[in-house]
Amino acid sequence: MKIQSIRGMNDLLPEQSAIWQYVEGTLARLVASYGYREIRFPILEKTDLFKRAVGEVTDIVEKEMYSFDDRNGDSLSLRPEGTAGCVRACTQNGLLHNQTQRLWYTGPMFRHERPQKGRLRQFHQIGIEAFGLAGPDIDAELLLLTARLWRELKIDSALELQINSLGSAEERVAYREALVAYLSNFHDQLDEDSQRRLTTNPLRILDSKNPETQSLLKDAPVLNDFLGAESKQHFAQICAMLDASEVSYVINPKLVRGLDYYSQTVFEWVTTELGAQGTVCAGGRYDSLVELLGGKPCPAVGLAMGLERLIMLLDGMGVVPDSVAQQIDLYLVAVGDVAGHGMRLAEELRSGLPNIRIETHCGGGSFKSQMKKADKSGAAIAIILGEDELASETVQVKFLRQERDQETVDQANIVEFLNVNFEY
Ligand code: ATP
Ligand code: MG
Repeated sequence: MKIQSIRGMNDLLPEQSAIWQYVEGTLARLVASYGYREIRFPILEKTDLFKRAVGEVTDIVEKEMYSFDDRNGDSLSLRPEGTAGCVRACTQNGLLHNQTQRLWYTGPMFRHERPQKGRLRQFHQIGIEAFGLAGPDIDAELLLLTARLWRELKIDSALELQINSLGSAEERVAYREALVAYLSNFHDQLDEDSQRRLTTNPLRILDSKNPETQSLLKDAPVLNDFLGAESKQHFAQICAMLDASEVSYVINPKLVRGLDYYSQTVFEWVTTELGAQGTVCAGGRYDSLVELLGGKPCPAVGLAMGLERLIMLLDGMGVVPDSVAQQIDLYLVAVGDVAGHGMRLAEELRSGLPNIRIETHCGGGSFKSQMKKADKSGAAIAIILGEDELASETVQVKFLRQERDQETVDQANIVEFLNVNFEY
């Protein structure tokens, strides 16, 4: 019997990886244009890191982590998200002391959830984090950056920005008490999850999907009423900066996010195009996390986007540029006893045209069968070398995707010819 992959952990095949490279490449260029630099940190960390950072009573730590004891008996976990490892790496390497940092990362994350559309057990995130900046301007910058990314990827029309403020820790404690007092009156009417959360993580009840719970919440105390002047101002300034840059948003007073470490700003970019798993990107401010992980207090704000969901959205909207699917520009056909010369010619083309992608035919065969392969490769041009061409030091250039006559070109001029006649 063949051994299969683990459920919810997918292979990424070459056709799809081209789209991934396009999205990742677009993002890498964009974040660099805002001055963000890449950080890489391990996929495996001590379980305690996530317990402390993400929170003991969150869904992630309670039931979704891949944790195991290694050969020394230390409890380790595959990272379920990136922020904890990023903060750990930054404090351990002294990146946060009296400095600001604008960072990003990408890679696989692991959560033992029920696999379904838009929900995998190994999925991929791009994360962006900014450290050492407490003001609303950096929160707004992250939102402008993501808005620009959606425009570049041509998915902006399908995404809505929802934002909210969770206030400070003290304000949240006061709100939490009021919410628990209110909901305790309806204890028996709450769904099972919400009943449990009433003692562990009551704010999460706000985003319960249960309609009965939601109708109870209609008259519940509202978080916004518990915010002090400073929190309100921070939030109002973000809104003003979004207005000034014409980024539209919806204030969602029930948006709370699943992780423990958020304070003040929280946001999500959501779409209705992906069914139930509609959150493509989410984040917020987490001013207390660095200190919680043993560093000096350091304000921070960040976000993470799910690449699978993003790419599903791009696919569904049909906005992946045609050029992404095309992986080969030139196919070199070598008929007869000329393979060695063909290889040399391909090397010369690669030296003369550094960005060109050339597939050299390997394995011999007739002219006809080689031309079939050239066509199937998706290349725009076939360069044909046979014994006649070898003798006359020329090649045949055949345009595979254009109504255009085949041309004979001197080998000495082929680089120049392609430079003039071919856009890549
Ligand atoms: P959700 O409410 O969809 O479960 P979450 O609050 O658990 O999301 P975060 O931890 O904030 O998600 O992760 C940020 C983003 O990562 C999500 O918006 C989503 O795009 C993606 N993501 C999270 N979990 C998964 C998963 N199991 N499979 C695929 N993508 C995921
Ligand atoms: Mg989740």
